Formats: sequence, C-alpha cells, structure tokens
Amino acid sequence: MHVIGTAGHVDHGKSTLVEALTGIDPDRLKEEQEREMTIDLGFAWMELLDGEEVGIVDVPGHRDFIENMLAGIVGIDAALFVVAADEGVMPQTREHLAILDLLQIQGGVVALTKIDLVDVGDIDQSDWLELVEEELRQVMQGTVLENSPVIKVSARNRIGLEEIKQSLTTCLADRPFRPDLTKPRLPIDRSFTISGFGTVVTGTLSDGTLKVGEEVEILPNGLRGRVRGLQTHRRKQVEAIPGSRTAINISGVSIEQIRRGDVVARPGVYRPTRRLDVQFRLIPDHKRNLKHNTEVKLFIGAAEVLARVRLLGIEELEPGNEGWLQLELHEPVVAVRGDRYILRRPSPGETMGGGSVVDPHPKGRHKRFRGGTLARLESLLKGTPAEVLQHATMALGVATIKEVVERSSLEANQAKEALRELLSSGQLLVLEGSTEIIQPSSEKLVISKNYWEQLEGQVLSKVEDYHRENPLRPGMAREELKSRLKLPSRYFNAILIRLVTQGDLKEAGPLVYKPGHQVKFTEVQQETIRKLLAIYAETPYAPPSVKEARKAVGEEVYSALVDLGWLVLVSEEVVFRKDDYDRMVAEVYELLQEHTEITAAQVRDHFKTSRRYALALLENLDAKGITVREGDVRKLNRVETR
Ligand code: GDP
Repeated sequence: MHVIGTAGHVDHGKSTLVEALTGIDPDRLKEEQEREMTIDLGFAWMELLDGEEVGIVDVPGHRDFIENMLAGIVGIDAALFVVAADEGVMPQTREHLAILDLLQIQGGVVALTKIDLVDVGDIDQSDWLELVEEELRQVMQGTVLENSPVIKVSARNRIGLEEIKQSLTTCLADRPFRPDLTKPRLPIDRSFTISGFGTVVTGTLSDGTLKVGEEVEILPNGLRGRVRGLQTHRRKQVEAIPGSRTAINISGVSIEQIRRGDVVARPGVYRPTRRLDVQFRLIPDHKRNLKHNTEVKLFIGAAEVLARVRLLGIEELEPGNEGWLQLELHEPVVAVRGDRYILRRPSPGETMGGGSVVDPHPKGRHKRFRGGTLARLESLLKGTPAEVLQHATMALGVATIKEVVERSSLEANQAKEALRELLSSGQLLVLEGSTEIIQPSSEKLVISKNYWEQLEGQVLSKVEDYHRENPLRPGMAREELKSRLKLPSRYFNAILIRLVTQGDLKEAGPLVYKPGHQVKFTEVQQETIRKLLAIYAETPYAPPSVKEARKAVGEEVYSALVDLGWLVLVSEEVVFRKDDYDRMVAEVYELLQEHTEITAAQVRDHFKTSRRYALALLENLDAKGITVREGDVRKLNRVETR
C-alpha cells in the first residue's frame, strides 16, 4: 500500500483537490472548516486507475503550521504538489519543495490548480499558464520533483482530475511497496478517544505488520498495551500492512499518556535514543552558516524535539553544503539508520535543512575533529555491499544479475559476496531456475522479495478479477493477463512460471487459473445444459449441430462447455459429447487395426450416422495425426504412437 502527501502554499487548493479526487473532506477540525484553512493533518483515500487503493495525507500549507505538516509528510511515497495558477510560486511552495527534497520523497505529480481563475482580464490564459509553469519548472530543477508531470486542474470545474489520477497511477505503479522487515513501528500523528472503544492512534505503519490481539509498546516511555482493533481507510483489518495508513485501537493505555511523535512498536524491538549521528544538508536559501552548538528543532517520524547540533569535521557549514552532525536530543526518539529528518530554527521558525540518520546509537560524544569518526560515518552512510546491492535491485524492479551489479558499482568480489548473502537470506529471489552458482555476470533475472510479493499480489488479483467477471470461463488467456499487467514478455513468463511452480496458479493450454476455480453455472443454465445433453444422448453419433447447440444454451454457456471439454468440436458444424467422441475415436482405431484401411461410408455405417458426421470425424482424426488419408480411404498414421 502507498501513501500520497499533499504539499504547497496555503490556499492554493490542496484540500479542495483532495476532496474533488476522493469525495472526502480532509479538513476534519471545526475550526478548519470555519476558517476554510487546513491547520492540522487531514486524511483521505482513493482508488487509482489500476485498482490500487492509496491513502492521502493532506497537510497544512500555512507557515504557522509547517510543523504539523512535517508530522504527516514523512511516511509518504509520492507528493501531490499543489500550486495555484493565479498566484504561482509562493514562499511555502519553495519551503515545502525543499522539505520534500530533504526527505527524498521520490517523485510525484504537480497540480497547477484554479486554472478557472486565470481565465479573466486581457491576458491570454494559455500565455499566463505557460509563464507560471516555466517559473515552476525552474524552481523544481535539481529537486526530487524535477521530472514530475505538471497537470492543469480546476477542482471547481472538475478539470484535470482524471489526468491527476492517471499520473499518480503511473508514478506509483512500479514503486515497490514498503518492505516487511518484521519490525513494525508506527509514528503516531494523531490520537483521540472514541467512546466505548477508548484510545485510538493513527499513523503510517512501516517496517512490519501489526495484528489484532498483539502486545505493543509505546516509545519512548515504554508503556505496554494491546491492539484491540485495526483500521485502514475506515475498514476493519485483522492485520495492518507496511505502508498503510493505520488506526490502532489500543487497550491498556490512556490518551493522556500518548503524544504525537510517540511510536507504537513490538515490545523490545526498538530502543529510544537521545543522540543521533546524521548526514545533513543546509538548504541553499538559508541566510547564514550553521554553527557548532546551535539549538534546533528536530523533526523525525512524527516527533518534534529540541536538539543541539555538534558540527563534526568543520568549523561552520555554508548554505547548500553537506556535512556530518551529531545531534544531542533533549528527549529520546525512535530512529533507524536511513530515516530522513528535518531541522528547523526554533524561533523564528524556519527550515534549515535535513538529511538521513547514519547511526541512531553512536557510542558516545564524538571529538569534533577526529578523522576516523568521519571515515566511519562515510562508510556507514554508503551501507554494506549487501545493502547497496539491495538498493540497486529495488531501483530496477526486475533485472538481470549483471544489470543489478552494474548499477551497484560494487567491485566483482564484493558483489559476489553480497549476492550470496541476499540470496541465502531470501531478500533477493532468482526468478528463473536454480540459485546455484550465481556469478555477478549472470543473465538470470532477479527481483527483491518485497517487489516480488507486490507483483505476485497484482498477478493473482488480476486473475481473480477475471474469474469474478467471467464466471463461465475456466481461465484467463495468458496473453490477456500479460497485456493487462503491461510487463515485458521475458519478465512475465518468468513470473508466471514461478507462480505455477509455487502452486498459486495453474495452467491449462493457453489459459491460467487459480487453483480451486471452477466454472459455475446458474440453476437455469444447468437446466438448459441438462436438456441439451439429453438430446445428445438420444443420438450420440448424429447429435445437434454447433448452431443448434449454441441456440439451445446460449453462446456463453456453449463456449464454456467447449472450454471445459464437455463438448468436443470436430469441425465448424459438428460437436460431440466428450464420452461419445472418445468412444468413436477408440472404435475407429479398432476398425483400422482390423481392416488396415476404411472408407467414410464404412465409418458412417458402423456408427449408423450420416456421411456429414463420418467425414467430420475422420478429418478431425487426420488433423490430429491419428489417421492419414489416401484417396478415398484412411489408414492408421504409422508415425503416430498411442
Ligand atoms: P489549501 O489551503 O491549499 O488546502 O486550499 P483550499 O483547498 O482550502 O482552497 C483555498 C480556496 O481556494 C478555497 O476557498 C477553495 O474553494 C478555493 N479553490 C480551490 N480549488 C479551486 C479551483 O479549482 N477553482 C477555484 N476557483 N477556487 C478553488
């Protein structure tokens, strides 16, 4: 499951757009509805064009509430970046963009909203929109949104909404879901009580699943509670999956004991920390250098805590530059290596920069100018060879080992070792063939476990959908499945073979189906089939023609009977019941063994049928290679082995 987050200047139409897309008004506070302004985070969800349901976090755009925005934006997979066409780029357009960039939110869609408002005065609308878009493109240059599509929208007139959905679908289609690392954590962005249920907290779940009934701990305080209920998009769940917007009803913990930014986790898995080693970038727009010992506000997960900066390796950091910091926190937080964070100046509030956590549990206070420390942080940031390779695989989706290794830029021996490690731990899967003797130059296809699970789910749900929509078809044509999935042949075949080997799909000729799928006729259909087959039983060797059979049960049921093999089509006109057909084939075979050669007339007389049926049967046997025709007679095809 994916989550999309809005971003952009106040009043540019974020909430209105979310409501137009989803039908849900994300401004839930009374004050918000009265002031027509988003103050806190809002939530909605919708179905994308490929059927995926995504959550949407709607954030406030006003500069006074940017800290609320930060609590919601962290877990998102893509941004819906909103800029009003009548105002163009404004201060929080830039600030939100800088934040998306610092958090490395990979891509998104830009909505140029309120285009209905620029259709006034003597300026030509398209000229104006072109100007605004040009400015926007310049601002986005070099950021995570650099190549994002810009869609012209009027939420009021419902223009551009389908294009937004289409672009979001494309943007998320090949993005692997959040991995299940079996270490669930949910940074709390809201908490409230519901009478009769008690405490409810919400957030975006990551790194694992949570189940109803399991014990959880709330960090940093370490309070214990139990999951009484789970919901995603207001639907009850027994299990919440990584990446999903999740509401947890927790028993054993009261609302007063919980704060935004606390983390719900499995007991004993995470240890809160008051010190973080981080990689940091000071944004280019920042007015002054970052100095040692500066007091800052740290935003990580949904938490906000005061911290003091220890600047490592340099005296001062200049705007636009990167460096290493050790952050001393006033209160403990839960953090994991690789988590993104933002630093702001406490007052006046201003985004300074951000980066990623390199070590959430440093040994101690680093000496500021010791070379070894920086070298260690550098190598921690890069990650182990296995992590680097894993990243390369995730970025490529499905690719050959050779491509993955090239992308990782690892040297051959390291790559080989990393490959061995990932394959044996099951984080990386070989799509085709065995996993023995894997060389970094191999052309075998590999996929991360995470992406495989995503694809597996997609393929199976497409087949399930097909079964539901076509209950009378025994299976879905392989080609149709391939075109619906829009996957290249080589990947598709490898994926299919794996699913069949795993027992999740079955194949029958050109069709694939879910094990256990059965064609189900309605009672009325069963009755018409029974009647038709009764007529067949009366004259098994001169049965109703194809046309008559079609007419009797209807096209769809007739096709199902042929697909199921209950009826065997021998020519354009002639169709037998399977048992009758099998018997005829066996008897013709016997006749031929007895007489060496037979004529159509002999076959006709043998079955007491007409010439039309006898010829159709013999031609069918010729086509199957059972008999060969020589003038007027048939002989057994000697190369045929039975
Ligand atoms: P947010 O602060 O970015 O969430 O902005 P809102 O969604 O609250 O919208 C701000 C104002 O702009 C509201 O009065 C909306 O009715 C108005 N608005 C939003 N979208 C459109 C649009 O497409 N056309 C017009 N004319 N007004 C819009």
